[in-house]
Amino acid sequence: MSQFQHVKIPKGDLIQVRDGKLQVGNHPIIGKLRGDGIGLDIFPAAEAVVDAAVDKAYGGKRKIAWCPVYCGLEGLNRYGEVLPQESIDAITHLKVAIKGPFTTPIGEETHVCLHCAHQQYQGGACEKCGKQDGVAKRFRSINVGLRQKMDLYACVRPVRYFEGVPAPNRYAQQVNFIIFRENTEDVYAGHDFERGSEVAEAIIALIKEKTGRQIRPDSGIGVKPISVTGTKRLVRRALDWAVRNKLPSVTLVHKGNIMKFTEGSFCKWGYELAAEEFGDVTVTEKKLWEELDGKMPAGRVLLKDRIADSIFQQIQTRPGEYSVLALPNLNGDYLSDAAIALVGGLGLGPGANIGDEVAMFEATHGTAPKYTGQNKVNPGSLILSAEMMLRHMGWPEAAELIMRGMAKAIKDGQVTYDLARLMKAEGRKGVTEVSCSGFGQAIIERM
Ligand code: NAD
Repeated sequence: MSQFQHVKIPKGDLIQVRDGKLQVGNHPIIGKLRGDGIGLDIFPAAEAVVDAAVDKAYGGKRKIAWCPVYCGLEGLNRYGEVLPQESIDAITHLKVAIKGPFTTPIGEETHVCLHCAHQQYQGGACEKCGKQDGVAKRFRSINVGLRQKMDLYACVRPVRYFEGVPAPNRYAQQVNFIIFRENTEDVYAGHDFERGSEVAEAIIALIKEKTGRQIRPDSGIGVKPISVTGTKRLVRRALDWAVRNKLPSVTLVHKGNIMKFTEGSFCKWGYELAAEEFGDVTVTEKKLWEELDGKMPAGRVLLKDRIADSIFQQIQTRPGEYSVLALPNLNGDYLSDAAIALVGGLGLGPGANIGDEVAMFEATHGTAPKYTGQNKVNPGSLILSAEMMLRHMGWPEAAELIMRGMAKAIKDGQVTYDLARLMKAEGRKGVTEVSCSGFGQAIIERM
């Protein structure tokens, strides 16, 4: 008897975590959350690519057992809610999952349609698309809910250039880095108090009493907590990724010149963690120049730090010098989006949210409802998220095949409408617009 009502665990190997390390069998069970809108289109395309890469890399010895888990429209239809507890329990049980985009209400309306994202003031049928089964009462973001409920504290965003993609930056070819953004603290922790509220007034009074400093009484107040715990577990993830993937450097990015005890401490605790747990595999930039005459010992990861505003310049002027970047929440949010724009942005940015035991990989774009079911959109973000997932599972050979296939498909001009339009506008010849599944097929043929 399954422990779940709707989730059917297929035959296969449950992924385990022992001593912080993932144990992955040859037939691992992976959770898949299709997502709303174009999730319908991109998931089959991505699944076909992953299955083909795994089959080719391991000669049929390994195969993923996909396990559907339901949120969003699929959750509403089965459980009557968009983020059912059973789905969280199932992902926690499976340890690794991959998801498409989910509708998030953003306006003031009380209801939203999960088919077309239309927002309205009543339940029942959607006033735009007419569908009966998709209108949900306003809810908090499913994406944020999943992260918070499973304490997925590291938001991981790789940024790399694919040859042939029109990119605004002349050094785009050098861009190949991965951003680790802390996901739970900083000004995003939700301690935001309205001007005139009891808490805001109490904080203003407390600061006046303890320090003599006066904050304007008509101020709203936000609290920016950054902890040793939150910082060290994030930096550990970043360093672990760099070591496992043999990457050259990790850069701690902070605004400690202004915020000494939050941003500055992030940097200090990051160095501390590196010394405590990665001392034998890292070299600090200070040591490199003061003791090693600038000669980097083979096999070590260089640990550096940069002020946040300078990194926004550096990724544009010298992107090749950065490999893994670790940041607190707010600056991590800004940098992730700025960085992806350097390489053309759009559908090719993958992502993951990772905790101590559970990791969830995700397409970073939205549900693009006007394209749902047309087999038209770019499945690249989800496919590259799956590529990250394979590396996380310790299957880099399959990940490599996906990278190779995708890079070649784009170089050959076999691309979906979004990239085709940009490439043609640049005057590029030999571009063929392919469908969503067609792009997946083009990748498989080039692995
Ligand atoms: P969106 O990303 O869904 O679409 C914006 C535009 O980008 C689309 O019209 C389309 O032209 C293009 N686009 C997006 N994904 C594409 C793809 N894979 N291939 C080609 N073109 C693509 O953003 P939106 O319209 O602002 O949001 C629609 C819904 O998605 C909203 O409910 C929003 O809250 C939600 N959303 C979810 C996520 C997530 O789940 N991670 C992220 C962003 C938005």
